[in-house]
Amino acid sequence: MPVLRLAIPTPLRTLFDYLPPTDAPAGKLVPGIRLQVPFGRREVTAYLVEVVENSDLDPQAIKQAIRVLDPEPLPAPAVLALCAWAANYYQHPPGEVYQAAYPRALRKGALHKGHAEPGWQLTTRGKGLPHGALARSPKQSRALALLQASGQVATAGLKAADIGPAILRALEQKGLAKRCELTATPVAASAASGLVLNPEQAGAMQQILDAGTGFSCQLLEGVTGSGKTEVYLQLIADCLQRGRQALVLIPEIGLTPQTLARFRDRFQAEIAVLHSGLSDRQRYRAWEAARSGAAHIIIGTRSAVFTSLARPGLIVVDEEHDASYKQQDGFRYSARDVAVKRGQLENCPVVLGSATPSLESLHNALQGRYGHQRLLQRAGTSELPQLRAIDIRHTPLESGFSEALVQAIAQALAAGRQALLFLNRRGYAPTVQCHDCGWIADCRECDARLTLHRRQRRLRCHHCGASQPLPRHCPECRSEQLLSLGLGTEKAEDFLRQRFPGVPVYRVDSDSMQGRESMAALVGQVNAGEPCILLGTQMLTKGHHFPAVSLVGVLDLDGMLFSTDFRGEERCAQLLTQVAGRAGRAEAAGTVLLQTHHPEHPTLRAMLSLDYHQQALAMLEAREQSRLPPRGQLLLVRTDCQDADCGEQFLRDLRQNCQDQLPPGVELIGPLPAPMQRRAGRFRSQLLVHCDQRRHSQQAARLLVAQAQVLPARKGLKWSLDVDPQDM
Ligand code: ADP
Ligand code: ZN
Ligand code: ZN
Repeated sequence: MPVLRLAIPTPLRTLFDYLPPTDAPAGKLVPGIRLQVPFGRREVTAYLVEVVENSDLDPQAIKQAIRVLDPEPLPAPAVLALCAWAANYYQHPPGEVYQAAYPRALRKGALHKGHAEPGWQLTTRGKGLPHGALARSPKQSRALALLQASGQVATAGLKAADIGPAILRALEQKGLAKRCELTATPVAASAASGLVLNPEQAGAMQQILDAGTGFSCQLLEGVTGSGKTEVYLQLIADCLQRGRQALVLIPEIGLTPQTLARFRDRFQAEIAVLHSGLSDRQRYRAWEAARSGAAHIIIGTRSAVFTSLARPGLIVVDEEHDASYKQQDGFRYSARDVAVKRGQLENCPVVLGSATPSLESLHNALQGRYGHQRLLQRAGTSELPQLRAIDIRHTPLESGFSEALVQAIAQALAAGRQALLFLNRRGYAPTVQCHDCGWIADCRECDARLTLHRRQRRLRCHHCGASQPLPRHCPECRSEQLLSLGLGTEKAEDFLRQRFPGVPVYRVDSDSMQGRESMAALVGQVNAGEPCILLGTQMLTKGHHFPAVSLVGVLDLDGMLFSTDFRGEERCAQLLTQVAGRAGRAEAAGTVLLQTHHPEHPTLRAMLSLDYHQQALAMLEAREQSRLPPRGQLLLVRTDCQDADCGEQFLRDLRQNCQDQLPPGVELIGPLPAPMQRRAGRFRSQLLVHCDQRRHSQQAARLLVAQAQVLPARKGLKWSLDVDPQDM
């Protein structure tokens, strides 16, 4: 009796042995199919990973699967291989990894209906009947004639010809007709001709094409507005020409209507879009269109990297440095890294594009592991903006604005242009304090302050979502003198409206932009070109083009300069370069003004005197010295628990048990409290693992997981392993 080894979505890092359902034909039990199985007191969907001869379990104890859900595997073979790789690389519970290959509806155990349309065709016996047979039943005779004439006919088409299910069932019972699926032959896609590439773009394009249609990874590093997207579009056109599908990954909030419109304008092709805002049904449809080959281009955010393709030909990862490619909870994968692995397994080219590549990708390119194409000039006629710092020490600020910045905004508006102001803090003010006793409104569940949202008259925690009405008086001393300290986008908006009456001020943050349509509407309005002020958070910096913006102002640079994370400088440089890249997309060169109390800060000086690429080289050098990624590799074991000491104790024990078995060059640092120790009522600790060589980190990861799993369970404690952590 064969034994099925199944991946089941649970927190356990193991496969589960089951016996096949009684009636399952052995030939149907192929890895990649789904089964319904009993698990504890529930019935769950499980994924078949392998079929083995024997189980280590007592044969009496092995449970039997209830039924087979798929006649054959739905995910493409390369995606199944990708899941196996990811479960091992990230040391994550296999069930949670395998389910990434399916849309939610199928994870819940729905049967796969497919893209194909249900229809009918004749059996061999039916085909053998002479014309005009079944004369005694005119309706059946007509159905027979139709099927004889057309081969396969859609059920809907038969119904339209007044041939209903009863007639067809009668033919079926006589063994003359049978149900079938009409597989639509994919229509060929075509592309409108693109722009004439400038020499840099043409060179990059040619080199990428010259690398061939098999696996290669190419870093396309091009300054903002250099025409990277145009290069992707033309590479995709080439891919479609070869009869293949292209998968394009975009950051979570980079999937703008503008981006989509650009694809729709260019291609006469079926485009499937996958993002977090879809309903289960829409997601299933898009997934199936990709899998069946009906869609030519698949554009999606992070999780789309696991979407099966019938004829993969190209994978593009746009803004590859973007933090949203890394899943921050549960299955903590990097969609960029998974995309590169996928290209290898599919044997197709991968293009990583960015104006501000991650140091990881840049390192790989410099080492020669990736091809490296650079675009140094903006496409078209626009020029890169000038950066200048405004030293705000000793200068009066009004709602966070210096007079110099206000003047610059006034000038831009007077010249008929637009100004864009960046402030990465939503709400009205980040702190509320009692003037009489010093009380500060803290979140009860987190080590964090509550943010004042004045429009809603509420205090909100931006970490756990807790929210409460704004108190009328101080809970400590009953004073009504409550001050709001610091600056958020709402307050900056109030100031701008009062200072520039009559000028439209558009605030862009996750509070003001609910739903995709609001952003689309806003972009439309702004790009009508009238003078206006845009004010927003990171949301404003990704993917959008605002050609009439000539001034970019960064209100609080200092908040970005100081970070405890070793990636702080990299993030700051990327963000500023991206914000700056919004300016001067039209003819006039733009200006970027940075308000700061620290004009001498090394990160800022590097920003002002170097371009991103030079700065990145310097940062790489520093990482080399400190042996931090991409030199060496990190793992992070995290715990969270209601009890303050429980997590650290767990990590101390883990450390103790692993210490002697660690591969060479692996060092454990901690346990330490997480940067925000208490969040949503849970205490968080972490143990950092530094590996000098990548090849040892896999071994270390396996050891840590194996040891963590056998440590005695502690009430309410959760632990997780993050391979290549991004935030720590
Ligand atoms: P990126 O993706 O690098 O930010 P885009 O591809 O969006 O750059 O191009 C920036 C602008 O330059 C767009 O308005 C685009 O239409 C234009 N552009 C790109 N390539 C060319 C070209 N070869 N000739 C003229 N304009 C171009
Ligand atoms: Zn008080
Ligand atoms: Zn909170």
